[in-house]
Amino acid sequence: MNKERLKKSQPVVYRVLSNALTKNRLAHAYLFVGDKGSNKEETALLFAQSMVCENTDKDGFACQTCERCLRMENRESLDFIWISKETQMDLIQKRQKKDAFKELANKKVKVEKKAEKLPTQIKKEAITSLQESFSKTGQEQSDKRIYVIEQYDLISTSASNSLLKFIEEPQEGIYGILTTEEKSNVLPTIQSRCQIIGFKPESYEERMEELLEITNEENAEMLIQNGYTLKNAQEWIENEEFGIIKNAAREYINSCNDHASILKMQQLFAGKSIYLNKEYVKVLLEWLLYFVRNKKTELKMSQQVQIQTILVESMDVLRSPVDLGLFLDKIYNQLWKVVKS
Ligand SMILES: [Zn+2]
Repeated sequence: MNKERLKKSQPVVYRVLSNALTKNRLAHAYLFVGDKGSNKEETALLFAQSMVCENTDKDGFACQTCERCLRMENRESLDFIWISKETQMDLIQKRQKKDAFKELANKKVKVEKKAEKLPTQIKKEAITSLQESFSKTGQEQSDKRIYVIEQYDLISTSASNSLLKFIEEPQEGIYGILTTEEKSNVLPTIQSRCQIIGFKPESYEERMEELLEITNEENAEMLIQNGYTLKNAQEWIENEEFGIIKNAAREYINSCNDHASILKMQQLFAGKSIYLNKEYVKVLLEWLLYFVRNKKTELKMSQQVQIQTILVESMDVLRSPVDLGLFLDKIYNQLWKVVKS
């Protein structure tokens, strides 16, 4: 998170955090509440870095370039644990592996590796692993150990209860930052033990300005119109497939009355292609919709309206499990009918 940007876009948050840092009045737990695009995760990292950086600025914020800061950014610090729906499995598996080795040594049982699906909730095991690794003494130079729990509203009830105990009896030097979109989804008992920091939604202009620093106008517009957070937008921009899908979408929408262009799309999104997955297909639809909606096609007005309807409805369908190949063929067919009418 760029400090100047935080100061400009979230002046209240900046001031409150700066006060806590410079006056050394840190709460043991913080709850960051704000919309998807409000950069609360980026701010959580900056705030955590600021607690241990030795090179802070006059407002108490981290330099973001020293070794300690970088180790935290790269999640290499043992005293900094980041739990999200996605990263919790590493933490849990590390612990399970340790247990499995113990068992192996004692009972000589065979260790089988189970393929686990990505959980939809933050599990209790993740919280237990966190508590265990933090119960050991500090591993690094800093006397602070910090955890971040992203999307706290996705936590399971049992996980929330075990975290509650952790927060209720705060240990010296342990600090937590929880982030959520909806405060009402967080247990009142957790809320009452956290300092609540409210983020205001960023305006369209502010988000545009941020993205234009790393990409062109079309990419920025498309990603913002589709509600991507700065972090997710960045990931797409760095992914070279993003540009390939964009170009394919542009070419196709300008010639969707031509069989050759449908064939080209079918080849790109063929059975074994890496593109035939839900994320890429979703981005394809978003690009198609972007080009039609922003009048970047030579289609007639009436056709544009019909195609927008088809695409928006298809995006809804994509939320349920579908056969992606058939799903795309149906869209090519529907668009073909519109442009041939
Ligand atoms: Zn630093």
